[in-house]
Amino acid sequence: MTFTPVKLPDSGLKYLPKSADSASSPNQQLLPITAKVNEHDHLEIGGTDVTTLVEQYGSPLYILDEETLRTTCRQYRDGFKKYYPGESQVIYASKAWSCVAVCSIIASEGLGFDVVSGGEVYTTLKAGVTGNKMYLHGNNKSASELLFAAQNNCTIIIDSWLDLENLVSLADQIQELPIRIMLRLTPGIECHTHDYIKTGHLDSKFGFDPNQIEAVFAFVSKQSCFNCIGLHAHIGSQIFERQPHQDIAEVLVQWAVRASEYGLNIEELNIGGGLGICYTEADDPPSIDEWVKAVSEAMVKACQSANIALPKLLAEPGRSLIGSSCVTAYTIGSRKVVPEIRTYLSVDGGMSDNPRPITYQSVYRTVVANRMSAPLEETITIAGKHCESGDVLIKDAELPHTETGDILVVMATGAYNYSMASNYNRIGRPAAVVVKDAEANLILRRETYEDLLRQDCLPERLR
Ligand SMILES: *Cc1c(COP(=O)(O)O)cnc(C)c1O
Repeated sequence: MTFTPVKLPDSGLKYLPKSADSASSPNQQLLPITAKVNEHDHLEIGGTDVTTLVEQYGSPLYILDEETLRTTCRQYRDGFKKYYPGESQVIYASKAWSCVAVCSIIASEGLGFDVVSGGEVYTTLKAGVTGNKMYLHGNNKSASELLFAAQNNCTIIIDSWLDLENLVSLADQIQELPIRIMLRLTPGIECHTHDYIKTGHLDSKFGFDPNQIEAVFAFVSKQSCFNCIGLHAHIGSQIFERQPHQDIAEVLVQWAVRASEYGLNIEELNIGGGLGICYTEADDPPSIDEWVKAVSEAMVKACQSANIALPKLLAEPGRSLIGSSCVTAYTIGSRKVVPEIRTYLSVDGGMSDNPRPITYQSVYRTVVANRMSAPLEETITIAGKHCESGDVLIKDAELPHTETGDILVVMATGAYNYSMASNYNRIGRPAAVVVKDAEANLILRRETYEDLLRQDCLPERLR
C-alpha cells in the first residue's frame, strides 16, 4: 500500500487552452476556451476571476462559460451546413443540463431540444422554446407526459408499443392532428467508449428491437392520428470513434427504405448523440467538426447507394455540447493524512453536486484557481463532504501546495452534474453563474434551507 510520489514538475497552466483562437474544438480541451491566468495567478473564465466569483456567489459554484457553449453549438450547426448537402437540425439532449438559462442560450443558436420528461418539456417551454423544436424521448413516458408534449406540438419519439397505444387513445384530446412521431430503433450497435460491437439484437431498454420494426411500420401506417416523419437511434455516450455513427447512418437508411414499403414517408433521420469530451489528458475524442464531417459523409453515401433522396439529418449531442463549458469551484477545507497510505483533502461539495465519480467511477482533473502556476507537488485524494466513504471526487489528484480556503476547480463539469445533482445529506444544490465578457450572472440560485423544506408536510396528528 506504500505510495511512492513521482516527480511532478507541471502546474495548473498545462490545462489552459493552447491557442487564443477558437479554431480548436472545445470538447478536446479540459478548460473552457476563454480560460486564462491573470496577474494574480488566478484562473479567469469569461473574463471573470474565479476566486472573485466564489467570494460573490459562494461555493460550490458551477461556472458556465457562454462563449464555449455558443462555440460548440455553432461548430455543430455550421458543420452540418458545411458537410451535409441536405437539411439538418442539431438538437440539444437537454438531460445533460436542463435549466431555463441554458435552454435559452442554446435556443438562440437555433438548436432544437431533446426532452425526456414533462419537467424538461416545461423547463424548455419556459425558456421560450416552442414545442415544434422539441422531441420527447423516454422508454416509459406517462400518459400525462405524452398528452402535455403532444398538446404543445412536440414531436414524440416512439419507444414502445405502449407509447403508440397511449397516443391513439389520447388523440381526441390533441388539437393539432396528426401527431408528429419518430420511431426509435435499436440498431444493434453498442459502444463501450473505446470499442463497439454490432449484433442483430441489443440488450437495451430503449427502442424497438429489429424483429419488431416491420410490425410497427405496419401499425403506424394504418393510424390516421400519426404522421411518422422519421427514424431515430442513439447508441451510447462518451464515444471516441466515428465508425459507430457512420454505421447508424447506414442502418437508418436501410430501415427508411423498408418503411417506405409500408407507405411511410420518412423525411428525417436522427443519428443520436454520444460524441465524447476530454475529462483527462488521456481522452482523445474527434473534434466536433471531424465528427460532423464523418456522419454527414456517411449519410450521403448510404443514401446514394440506397438511391433515396437525402433526409433531413438530425443529431442530438448532450455531453459534447455543454460538458466542456463549465467548471465547478469548491473551497478547500480539512486535510487528513493517513500515514503511508493517502492524504485526503476535503471540499465543500461532492457527490450531491457531481454524482458521476461515485456512480460511474468517472475521472476528473483539477486546478487550484488561486495558484495556477504553482508547481504540482503532491498526489492526494479530493473527498466530498457527504457521509459516505465513497464520496471521493478525484482519486490521486496532482496538486500544488494548498491551504484551507484555496479554491479548487474541477474541470469539464457541464454535462450530467447539475442535472444529476441531489439534496443528499440535506445539502442545497449549488448556485450556477454564466460568465461572458467579464460579467457574471446568476442562472441558478443556491438552494436555501427553506428550499430544502419546500416539499415537507407535517400531518396534523404528528404535531
Ligand atoms: C443521452 C442521450 C443523448 C445525448 O448523449 P450524449 O452522450 O450526452 O451526447 C442523445 N439522445 C438520446 C436519446 C439520449 O438518451
